[in-house]
Amino acid sequence: MKIAVAGTGYVGLVTGVCLAKYGHSVVCVDVDPQKILLLQTGVSPIYEPELQELMTDHRDKLTFTTSYETAYKDADVIFIGVGTPERADGSADLTYVYEAAKQIVKSVTRDCVVVIKSTVPIGTTDKLDEWIQSHRKHPVEVKVASNPEFLSQGRAVQDTLYPSRIVIGVEDEKAEQVVREVYQHFHAPLVITNRKSAEMIKYASNDFLALKISFINEIANLCERIGADVEDVAKGMGFDSRISPEFLQAGIGYGGSCFPKDTKALHWLANFHDYEFKTVKAAIDVNEAQKIKLLKKVRRYFPSLRGLTVAVLGLTFKPETDDLREAPALVNIPLMLEDGATIKVWDPVAIPHVKKRYPTEITYCSSIDEALSEADVCFIFTEWNAVKKFPLKRYSELMRTPIVLDGRNCYCLEDVKKEKMIYDSIGRDVVQNMKMVFV
Ligand code: NAD
Repeated sequence: MKIAVAGTGYVGLVTGVCLAKYGHSVVCVDVDPQKILLLQTGVSPIYEPELQELMTDHRDKLTFTTSYETAYKDADVIFIGVGTPERADGSADLTYVYEAAKQIVKSVTRDCVVVIKSTVPIGTTDKLDEWIQSHRKHPVEVKVASNPEFLSQGRAVQDTLYPSRIVIGVEDEKAEQVVREVYQHFHAPLVITNRKSAEMIKYASNDFLALKISFINEIANLCERIGADVEDVAKGMGFDSRISPEFLQAGIGYGGSCFPKDTKALHWLANFHDYEFKTVKAAIDVNEAQKIKLLKKVRRYFPSLRGLTVAVLGLTFKPETDDLREAPALVNIPLMLEDGATIKVWDPVAIPHVKKRYPTEITYCSSIDEALSEADVCFIFTEWNAVKKFPLKRYSELMRTPIVLDGRNCYCLEDVKKEKMIYDSIGRDVVQNMKMVFV
């Protein structure tokens, strides 16, 4: 099939590349000429494991352009995978979706199906359909379907090639047949439903996961107060198949481009429909407080960060991605700077992006050793493998005072206990194997 994809971000680009792998002829469109230029030279503008290789392997089936007219005019299917960011009031901003729709109605010259992959509030696809039908420039049949995306950054390619499910929201059989055909070579359970239910499945799934994270984080906070160990608690809970061990890792909260905005958008939508969604509101509130948990913990050791050298390990909201959107590290760094800290950071992929925001205020390090050298305290914000595998003894060898605040529980407490350090993590006992004289 001839497929066009609007948006070459984490969703659009990965979708386009994976559809090309399954034999479709794909043209990816973006309004960002720099991204397209890079893609035309065969380079992925985002980091996702396997993406670059897959793009190279299937380049004969992939083209990239800023010219939406040429991309859309004779496509069988047009996916919309543009961003739906958060507005100041928490609602979803649909400007980019409608902009893409405008470009589509101007360009299509044959029957096609427009598929909304972006996460959009319940009812959006219906409204967009009405809008498209009343703004069509050519006498062609344009059907509109919802097909939310469930990929997880850091494993976007695998999630797209082998999805847990494919949800197709349609109001008529023809659109259903076309979208089924797109996915005919994928092996995944199909959920065929109406458009509103498909949109709701996406929000309900994301918000449930956010809720699960905030729940285990609250359990962790209580564990700290009563002397239980959240890792053991989560392990014990996870054996129950009704609960499952996924998303039971306590930490300093969720970030990224989805959970924060999708929880707020559903809460906003519920309010709009005169309903107070209390559990989702609780998930949001718990997460906000959790993000700065390590800054509260550090007060146990230092009254202020003024004059101290702080090592920061990890910037992204999770490992295996270069995405910094809503990353807890970026909430903490300005507060640390305001408190007078000298900051040295290490991250394997995100430093170039953060440098744009803090060109001179932070020292950027190319190794963990360099970041830890002569530091008074270390904050771990992302559980990169390099951090998890970093030899624990190096903290006391390199740091001025080996105080490690671990927001992602990277180390086993039994291993930490063998080292001369102070190690304060989430929902577990504090390990204090050295005396400190605090001034
Ligand atoms: P992104 O910000 O990485 O990419 C969006 C891209 O769309 C940008 O490159 C932008 O330049 C481009 N764009 C904007 N307007 C355009 C237009 N008119 N035509 C063509 N391109 C246009 O966004 P993302 O993370 O890929 O997310 C896209 C959507 O998918 C969002 O609704 C998001 O909630 C949803 N989603 C994201 C993920 C994820 O993990 N990132 C997972 C599932 C669903």
